[in-house]
Order: sequence, then C-alpha cells, then structure tokens
Amino acid sequence: MKRILVTGGAGFLGSHLCERLIRDGHEVLCVDNFFTGRRRNVVHLLEHPYFELMRHDVCFPLYVEVDRIYNLACPASPVHYQFDPVQTTKTSVHGAINMLGLAKRVKARILQASTSEVYGDPEVHPQPESYWGRVNPIGPRSCYDEGKRCAETLFFDYYRQHRLDIKVVRIFNTYGPRMHPNDGRVVSNFIVQALTGRDITIYGDGQQTRSFCYVDDLIEAMVRMMETPAGFTGPVNIGNPGEYTMLQLAETVLRLVGGRSRLVFKPLPADDPRQRQPDIALAREKLGWTPTVPLEDGLKETIAYFRRLHEEEGLPA
Ligand code: NAD
Ligand code: UDP
Ligand code: UDP
Repeated sequence: MKRILVTGGAGFLGSHLCERLIRDGHEVLCVDNFFTGRRRNVVHLLEHPYFELMRHDVCFPLYVEVDRIYNLACPASPVHYQFDPVQTTKTSVHGAINMLGLAKRVKARILQASTSEVYGDPEVHPQPESYWGRVNPIGPRSCYDEGKRCAETLFFDYYRQHRLDIKVVRIFNTYGPRMHPNDGRVVSNFIVQALTGRDITIYGDGQQTRSFCYVDDLIEAMVRMMETPAGFTGPVNIGNPGEYTMLQLAETVLRLVGGRSRLVFKPLPADDPRQRQPDIALAREKLGWTPTVPLEDGLKETIAYFRRLHEEEGLPA
C-alpha cells in the first residue's frame, strides 16, 4: 500500500486514476482547484476510508507526505486552457516546480502527464519520442504546448540535477466517461450534438486525423509506467494508433447514437494539427502495454455516460 498524490484528481483522467489506485488498495490524496474538475467525478470515492479530497492550486506550494505523485493538474482542452492562458502556463510550470520540490523533499517518485501537443503540428508520422516537435511559441495553443514542454524540461533537470525518480508520459487524445460535455473536444462535441439532435460541427474539411485512446487503456499504461524500474524515465507515448478522420468519427458517432443530426462544416481553428498518431513501440516494449478497447466499444460507453448526464442534469445547449 502506497500513499499516492494525484494532482488534477477531480478531472476526467484524474478521477479514473484515483478510482483505479483505490481499487488497487492504495491511499489516495486527490488535489484539485476545481477549475475544470468536479466533485461529482469523485463523489463516489468520498466515503472510502483511504480517499481524501483537497482543494488546492498547484501553483502554490504543497506540504504533504506521499510516496508517489501523479501530476495531472492542467486544463487540457483548448476551450479551457485558452480561457486564462497565463494561468495555464503557470499551472504547468509553477505546478511542476512545486510538485518536483515536494518529490525532492519526501523522496517520492513522480510522474508527469505530458501531451502529444509537445510535438505541435508534426512533420513526422507517427511521432516517436525522439522527435523534437514543431511548436509555435507565440500562438493561441502555446500556453499549453510550451507550458507542457517546459514542465518536461523541469522534470529532466530535476532528474539530472537532483537525481529525482521521474517518469514522463506523453498522452495522445483520450476519451471516455467524465469528459466535460462543454469542453469543445471533438468526441464530446459530436456525442452531445448527436444526443441533442443538433448539427454535428466538422472543423475544416474533416480530413484531419486523430487517434483516440479509451480512458481505461490509458490509465493502465500510466500505472504501468509509474511502476517501471527506477532510472527508466521515458518520455513514453501513450495512445491508440488507430487513426480516423473527423468525418469518419462523426459518421460513427451518428450511427451509434441514431437521431437526425446533419453534418455542417465550420472554419478550422488556428494551428490545428493536420494529422496526429502515436508511435507506441516504446510503450509496447517497456510497459508490455497495448490498447485493447476498440473505438466503437469505447464510444458506446462514452455515449451511455452522456445519456445519463443528459437525463440527470441536462446537456449544454
Ligand atoms: P481535466 O481538465 O478534466 O483535468 C485537469 C484537472 O486539473 C481538473 O480537475 C482541474 O480542475 C485541475 N486543475 C487545473 N489547474 C489546476 C491547478 N492550478 N491546481 C490544481 N488543479 C488544477 O483534463 P484531463 O483530460 O483529465 O487531463 C489531465 C491531464 O492529462 C492534463 O495534465 C492534461 O494536459 C493531460 N492530457 C490529457 C489528454 C486528454 O486527451 N484528455 C491528452 C494529453 C494530455
Ligand atoms: N515545495 C513544495 N512542497 C515541498 C517542498 C517544496 O511545494 O514539500 C515547493 C517550494 O515552494 C519550492 C519548489 O517546491 O518553491 C521547488 O522546491 P526546491 O526544493 O526544488 O527549490 P527551492 O525551495 O530551493 O527553491
Ligand atoms: N473538431 C471538429 N469539430 C468539433 C471539435 C473539434 O471537427 O466540434 C476537430 C478539431 O478541429 C481537431 C480535431 O477535431 O482537428 C480534434 O480536436 P480536439 O479539440 O478534440 O483535440 P486536439 O485538436 O487537441 O487534438
């Protein structure tokens, strides 16, 4: 049994991670400022004797005693991270410094939830971890991309300079229950639109591609990464290599939900990557991991979640 801190633990991925760690018999301290996370995501864990929820902003120091830190705190969707871009960079950078300082003081192992966005709009497909990326430093996505890149830099400098036991995973687009209904992500948008009978909004020509990993697969990989031998730092890509165009995704969601939504085309946002697909050879080799949930199965679970949410509290108009 370990004492595990999960920052951003009330968010989409964090809540699944807390659930998993509690199930594995650990003591979990969930820290979140509720910027995009919600109590609802972890309310079912609150009665558990080994679960604790703490409202705290990782931009400020945190003094607790733990064995492991999963650092997930950071808004992840463009709508949310562009709402207050300065705060987004601060969360990534000051948050990383504080959590690394904490890890250093208590000698905890620390894992950073980095992102495929560190590759920017890549000119290499699929992207291996050795690719340095093509990122615009001054665009509307930069607060997130560069914040996450700087956090990786900090992790590797604490590793080299202070011998910290670090792990870095680069997460590719992940979906599943407890995604935000109004965070503007393509999977949640399409499902909400289909469930409420509104037009499905395709940005650009819909030929850009993404790869979508189901949340359970992702959490499994994160936990495996955390438990790799000391000295193995990553970064390791985690994602599902299955690549789909946004048009294909829209058609699949529409077929699974049913209803009468039409597809409409809207302008493509600035700096929107054309193609993104993980190279997961390293995860296969080092974690013995490969994603197992097919897109349609994961979409069905996600649709069921949004249906329940629609019945219980309504979906955003
Ligand atoms: P999310 O927005 O649901 O979760 C982020 C959580 O962090 C929220 O609960 C939020 O309230 C909290 N938070 C934000 N700023 C904070 C701060 N200053 N102090 C404390 N808590 C703070 O997003 P998610 O999809 O669950 O993403 C979790 C992590 O995984 C993020 O770091 C994100 O960058 C990374 N990631 C996610 C994806 C994805 O597809 N979901 C892809 C790549 C990387
Ligand atoms: N910190 C923290 N919790 C701790 C230890 C440190 O939040 O248990 C913060 C501390 O506020 C500091 C940061 O982590 O700003 C970096 O710590 P480090 O020891 O690396 O640097 P220093 O304190 O020397 O600036
Ligand atoms: N997208 C879309 N319609 C939407 C929302 C997003 O066509 O309603 C597109 C978006 O332009 C991008 C892709 O879907 O090309 C994935 O967008 P998302 O914001 O989910 O993830 P990211 O761009 O960060 O990979």
